[in-house]
Amino acid sequence: MIDRTTLVVLAALALATTAARAQPAPCLDNADALGTARMLAVDAATLPRVGRKHFPQTLPLAPKEVVLTFDDGPEPAATPRVLDALKHECVQASFFLLGRSALAHPELVRRERAEGHSIAHHTFSHPLLDRMRVAAAQAEIDRGFAAVDTALYGSPQHAPKTPFFRFPGFASSPALLDFLERRGIVVFGADLWASDWNPMTPEQELKLVLGRLEASRGGIVLFHDTKRQTAAMLPAFLRALRNGGYRVVHVVPAASSTATISR
Ligand SMILES: [Zn+2]
Repeated sequence: MIDRTTLVVLAALALATTAARAQPAPCLDNADALGTARMLAVDAATLPRVGRKHFPQTLPLAPKEVVLTFDDGPEPAATPRVLDALKHECVQASFFLLGRSALAHPELVRRERAEGHSIAHHTFSHPLLDRMRVAAAQAEIDRGFAAVDTALYGSPQHAPKTPFFRFPGFASSPALLDFLERRGIVVFGADLWASDWNPMTPEQELKLVLGRLEASRGGIVLFHDTKRQTAAMLPAFLRALRNGGYRVVHVVPAASSTATISR
């Protein structure tokens, strides 16, 4: 028979285990690393859409907290350098993958996952979904989910493992936003971006994004890990976060995430 004291101890142990799971992994290789400050579980039930560039709401971040996001990969010419920079500073990011690129380079997707990053979704082939028929747009989104999870797990999952999605070109529509919300999928916009779709030197991009970060006092930052200029800039950017007192927050799916397939 379990007495009251044993129950209290067991409850404390369970709490400690939960807390340990929610903590970023310690950084063993670089004592001076930026490091991931905390993890933030995000659930569509409470936060269906985030990012002030397009939605009224964003993540519950404190001033100077930053969420790093990378779109359009993986891309062998740039993604490995991005991963190297993140690894050196012991920070985790979220990658919004194209299904076709995930199938072409599954080893890079597996590396992203092995290094603790969140593997999120960005359609199969990057069409502007608001210009398509709704059914075709939904099929494109599902094809992207299936491709990424096939690259990671060998077969499509019942629902995307990480229920985070970003619209290509931010081209959403009310019908598609409803579709994703019904399925428990969080739609990510951004609070600021590096404008790295425009050609510029890594130094120019660094200055631009740091200026925007200072103006917004943190937030969800959008980069593209397909861009060599971004990969080249990233080590200096992460150092600047460290020196400027910013804290990196890693967004992860809530354990109770309710993403479902409903066709
Ligand atoms: Zn994109």
